[in-house]
Amino acid sequence: MNTDLVKVVRAAYFAGEKHSKQRRGDLEETPYINHPLELASILVDEGQIDSVDVICAALLHDTIEDTDTSIEELISQFGPKIGGIVAEVSNNMNLDSASRKVQELACIPNLSIEAKLVKLADKIANIRDVSTMPPVGWTLDKKKSYFDFALEVAKSAKDASPRLFEVFVNDYQHLKID
Ligand code: ZN
Repeated sequence: MNTDLVKVVRAAYFAGEKHSKQRRGDLEETPYINHPLELASILVDEGQIDSVDVICAALLHDTIEDTDTSIEELISQFGPKIGGIVAEVSNNMNLDSASRKVQELACIPNLSIEAKLVKLADKIANIRDVSTMPPVGWTLDKKKSYFDFALEVAKSAKDASPRLFEVFVNDYQHLKID
């Protein structure tokens, strides 16, 4: 068996199970799992990233933050490398959203290359979603300030993939928000 393929399928299935009851905040209540799948697709198709650890971590990136998954569980299922990347990109959910953003931004320079790649793909996916399927109730100001926050994160993570940073900047400049 191709062990890389097995790992990716297991990570996708694990994330699907963990997020199965969750929906995004948009009007259509899109299934949550679409988001980690979008990251994996951005990394592979637009970033030309073929690291299995990065793709698996992208699929799993919100399981610690948003589900009952523990870091120990990820390490036992997927090993310390993938578990470590997910831990690196997980925000401290005990903080309020403003402090969380400050902390997220401050931590980026110290992240591993793998974690920065996940962050870049996350911000690309997030600004696309804010443009095309925004969370219900978000004002224009909130959308604009999210775009600017995402730009700061992307700038900080740029060295991991100039190609993905370029994808981000292109979206940042061309996506419409209203
Ligand atoms: Zn995310």
